Amino acid sequence: MSATWFPTIDEDRCAECLQCVEFCPHAVYEEKEGRPVVAQPLNCVDFCRGCQKICDAKAIFFPGDTY
Ligand code: SF4
Ligand code: SF4
Repeated sequence: MSATWFPTIDEDRCAECLQCVEFCPHAVYEEKEGRPVVAQPLNCVDFCRGCQKICDAKAIFFPGDTY
């Protein structure tokens, strides 16, 4: 658990497929009005990038990532 490692979603890129919401085993994401939101950032596991890897739209970023 970390206060600094959690995903950020690029809303412009996001295809609203909600795969990240289903994928994350730590319930970091929640679906709200059809869109993913990072509801529990403190649940994210340091240096995990699982959801980023399954995001076909490449809409998920972590600290230090560049576009
Ligand atoms: S997996 Fe990617 S494109 Fe799909 S809802 Fe999540 S952030 Fe958006
Ligand atoms: S990086 Fe891992 S723990 Fe964090 S939101 Fe994505 S799948 Fe969940």
